[in-house]
Amino acid sequence: MKIYPKTISEARNLLKSRSMSSVELTQMYLDRINEMDSQIHAYLGVYDDVLDQAADADAQIRAGIDLPLLGVPISIKDNIMFQGHTASAASKILGNYIAPYNAHIIDELRRAGAVLIGRTNMDEFAMGGSCENSAYGPTHNPLDISRVPGGSSGGAAASVTADMCVAAIGTDTGGSVRLPASFCGLCGLYPTYGSTSRYGLIAMGSSFDQAGSLGRSVDDCATLFTVLSTYDARDAQSIPIANRKQILSEVKKIGIPRSLIAMDGVSEVVRSEFERLLNELKTKGYEIVDIELPHITASVPTYYIIIPAEASTNLSRMDGIRYGVRAKGVDLLDIYMNSKGEGFGPEVQRRLLLGAYVLSAGYYDAYYGKATQVRELIRQEILKTFETVDVILTPTATSGAPLIGAKSDPVAMYMMDIFTVPANLSGCPALSVPFGQDGSIPLGMHMMAPHWGENRLFTLGRDIESLNNQ
Ligand code: GLN
Repeated sequence: MKIYPKTISEARNLLKSRSMSSVELTQMYLDRINEMDSQIHAYLGVYDDVLDQAADADAQIRAGIDLPLLGVPISIKDNIMFQGHTASAASKILGNYIAPYNAHIIDELRRAGAVLIGRTNMDEFAMGGSCENSAYGPTHNPLDISRVPGGSSGGAAASVTADMCVAAIGTDTGGSVRLPASFCGLCGLYPTYGSTSRYGLIAMGSSFDQAGSLGRSVDDCATLFTVLSTYDARDAQSIPIANRKQILSEVKKIGIPRSLIAMDGVSEVVRSEFERLLNELKTKGYEIVDIELPHITASVPTYYIIIPAEASTNLSRMDGIRYGVRAKGVDLLDIYMNSKGEGFGPEVQRRLLLGAYVLSAGYYDAYYGKATQVRELIRQEILKTFETVDVILTPTATSGAPLIGAKSDPVAMYMMDIFTVPANLSGCPALSVPFGQDGSIPLGMHMMAPHWGENRLFTLGRDIESLNNQ
């Protein structure tokens, strides 16, 4: 039986001790993908130069070079551009699109020695929470293939859980790294907005999007965060290093937004496992306090007004002329309409229509304008709360991974995001760590810290992780 390294440090130890070469390790994962991925469908494609990357890593290892990810196979979500390789955002419209340049984070991963193994399935243009909205068919949860892996970075999570790579890079606009982490028994980080460059990411919601990491341990998320969170002048929202005031203080006081946890749709098992966690944390000496965030229950409607607006703006460039697949038509307008009509799936079309509507002259004030005001209220409330508590703790999801097809109503799907979107609305970092079970299905717990408070998340996250091992 093959033993797959579970974490980046396990993989690095194997490679450093020369128990295995990166080519051997990579080949082991490629074999696994060949054997298993027809059932899981985590990958849309394996990069054709992956073994060359591994051979290159081996040469560096032989030369005594030590880098944080040297020789470690990592999967890449299909909306991140890796030069010369397809990046389709799991959409038909970009089915033939070859990335003309590297995303900043791809350069950072390569500089850190990572072997980029393949591109992972996702909800089309990152719109969804289950990975069922891919134009190329759903990904299945490796822990129970009748269930979804979560989304939109569902392929990313499945690729790690199914031992088809060591760790994964996803993107998170409203929970797309953390929800799949929760459903697949992994850790997932959404970092402070502005910490990782969006250059070369296929945009969904520009004021929310960040690249995030998925791995089996909090340490893996921390390692990937260090690699990815560098300044990049090509992203206007990338924050210069001098302005990143890392918070180093410890976590003592944990705030619980009871109004969110009391919302309809949160399963009883999730509530009881959450209470069990609070008791464990109290025993460990943490102070647990209830907090009031009066507008936080409006997070989902606020998010689902602003996101379609930003997405419809970002995706207007996908017109069949400048990018991707062009449909036939009798004139230019016909080509536009046919390309978008044939190229975009139902959820993307829904959001483009909604976005155009909420931004239209007649409805801007009533919807988009109001939503941006509510977003600011929520942001202020969250930041104010961090004057009295160190971390805000909730479950990550309202339930364990749903069955495939169970959330076919779009609003039911949107409601799965109630615990994750407040971080994106406020730009605050958040981490999901596995804790508890619903039967055989893992659950995740979600902690949010003030801007640049990643260290707090890692500290508390490691403590929660250690409870699982007791
Ligand atoms: N489920 C959310 C949505 O559909 C989040 C997606 C994401 O983070 N990319 O918008």
